[in-house]
Amino acid sequence: MAVERTLSIIKPDATKRNLTGKINAKFEDAGLRIVAQKRIQLTPEQAGVFYAVHKARPFYGELCEFMASGPVVVQVLEGEGAVAKNREVMGATNPADAAAGTIRAEFAESVGENSVHGSDAPETAAVEIAYFFSGLELVG
Ligand code: ADP
Repeated sequence: MAVERTLSIIKPDATKRNLTGKINAKFEDAGLRIVAQKRIQLTPEQAGVFYAVHKARPFYGELCEFMASGPVVVQVLEGEGAVAKNREVMGATNPADAAAGTIRAEFAESVGENSVHGSDAPETAAVEIAYFFSGLELVG
C-alpha cells in the first residue's frame, strides 16, 4: 500500500477538554506519523471555506460556528494508506455508531462536536493540506 498524507483536525470540543495528547497517541499507536502540526483559531468564514462542500446541509452554519468556537489543532498524518487508516482510528461521524476504541467512541460529545476531522480521499487530502500548510511546513 502506498504511503499517503491526510489532513486531520482536532476540533474545539477536544482542545477545550485538553485531549490533544490523548488523541495524538491514538494516531501514533495506529502507525500514523504526525509530520506537521499547529494550533490555530479559525474565523467562522475560514471554517466556512474549509467545509464549503457542506454548504447546503442544514447543520452548515452550526458547524462553522463550532469550528470557530475555540482553538483547533490542524495536522498532517503520514503512513501507509493514511487516509483510510485515519478514518478507521476516528470512528463513525456519530459517536453513538463509532466502534469501541475509536477516537469518537471515546471522546466525541455529539454528532456535531465529534472531536476530529479527517480527509475522506487522497484528492481531498491534498486540497485540505494545502489550505493549512505550505510546502515549507511539511518536513516529513
Ligand atoms: P465526517 O467528519 O465523519 O467526514 P461529514 O463529512 O458527514 O462527516 O460531516 C462533516 C462534519 O459535519 C462532521 O464531522 C460533524 O462535525 C458535522 N455534522 C455531520 N452531520 C451532522 C449533523 N447531523 N448534525 C450536526 N453536525 C453534523
